[in-house]
Amino acid sequence: MNIHEYQAKALFEKFGVPVPKGATATSPEEFITALAQLPEGPTMVKSQIHAGGRGKGVFTNGYKGGVKFCKTKAEAREVAGHMLGNVLVTAQTGPAGRKVQTIYFTVASDIKKEYYLAILLDRASSRPVIVASTEGGVEIEKVAHDTPERLFKVLVDPAYGLADFQVRELVSKLALTGAEAKNAAKLIRALYTMFWETDAAMVEINPMITTPTGEVLALDAKVSFDDNALFRRPEIVALRDLNEEDPKEIEASKYGLSYIALDGSIACLVNGAGLAMSTMDIIKHFGGSPANFLDVGGGASKEQVIAAFKIILGDPAVKGIFVNIFGGIMDCNVIATGIVEAVKEVGLKLPLVVRLEGNNVAAGKATLAQSGLTIVSGDSMADAAQKIVKLVA
Ligand code: ADP
Ligand code: MG
Repeated sequence: MNIHEYQAKALFEKFGVPVPKGATATSPEEFITALAQLPEGPTMVKSQIHAGGRGKGVFTNGYKGGVKFCKTKAEAREVAGHMLGNVLVTAQTGPAGRKVQTIYFTVASDIKKEYYLAILLDRASSRPVIVASTEGGVEIEKVAHDTPERLFKVLVDPAYGLADFQVRELVSKLALTGAEAKNAAKLIRALYTMFWETDAAMVEINPMITTPTGEVLALDAKVSFDDNALFRRPEIVALRDLNEEDPKEIEASKYGLSYIALDGSIACLVNGAGLAMSTMDIIKHFGGSPANFLDVGGGASKEQVIAAFKIILGDPAVKGIFVNIFGGIMDCNVIATGIVEAVKEVGLKLPLVVRLEGNNVAAGKATLAQSGLTIVSGDSMADAAQKIVKLVA
């Protein structure tokens, strides 16, 4: 789950990660009250969307920049008017962009130097990894590619937590000394505590800056959380902004399904991420293209299958449905029964190809055959994929 910069910064403050003072607004009237909370002087106007690259983004109305520096609060108010309610396209949003529904005003800091700092989960070692760089404010992928020697990593043993020597190592690699070193060390420790205590999947500060007076501040904040831990973090769930999510994904998550939208014409109902990948490959191999993936996970119920069909059919680009289930944990007959009921309930008109394999497959196939519905059965993945590609062509 992702949150906005202003929400992430509120969490930063709670854990002692220093940020410049800021205030949000969701309407032109609120521009005035929000700006009243900030001192007169240089002010940043920042579009709040769940995507980075806002500074270099362009609005669909032609206005340039989703993050802007303004000399005065009066200018900030005017600039905010160009952003609010408009669609911002950045390198991370895709061509459709995102509608800006909240503006964050924040004091513009005096920047001495920009750095990069992030904490995420290193899957290879199953440990949190702290990534830092002297090259801040730019895309970290570019730094990793062009100047990998300027990227530093420290793996943290979760049982011991972040050790002092590791913090010193990071600070010294960033070539910070004196008050800057002390303040950076404090910030890194606070950020690690936040990462750990909120079950974050990633916290990224790009840029973290030093100021001429020796302060160290987080100017940007990108935070995402581990969905599997949300059940024990109600205060984090409360930060969820449904405006930023695909309505189909929201509907799917209500039923414990995961939905991924793609741009083809064949809807895919599968169980497991690996099977989703191979289903995509085989559809493409036979000349088709997937419209989406709905992963019903390890043990889908009838209700989930019905919900899945309804979500799939909500996409007008879908021309056919491919159900590809491997019954390892799942009973194929439960899926088959769910499919039959779903087809009846939604009055399915589109071609449907089902490939079932595994646990209780004979009963599952019999259920489909005896249903009296026009459900095409596939003997193998290749056979089924060829059939659906042909049917939607
Ligand atoms: P994004 O990464 O989405 O482009 P940022 O918050 O990083 O958005 O803002 C883009 C750039 O604007 C930053 O790299 C920084 O140089 C500048 N900036 C952002 N916030 C401030 C601030 N409070 N004071 C001064 N400069 C800022
Ligand atoms: Mg940034």
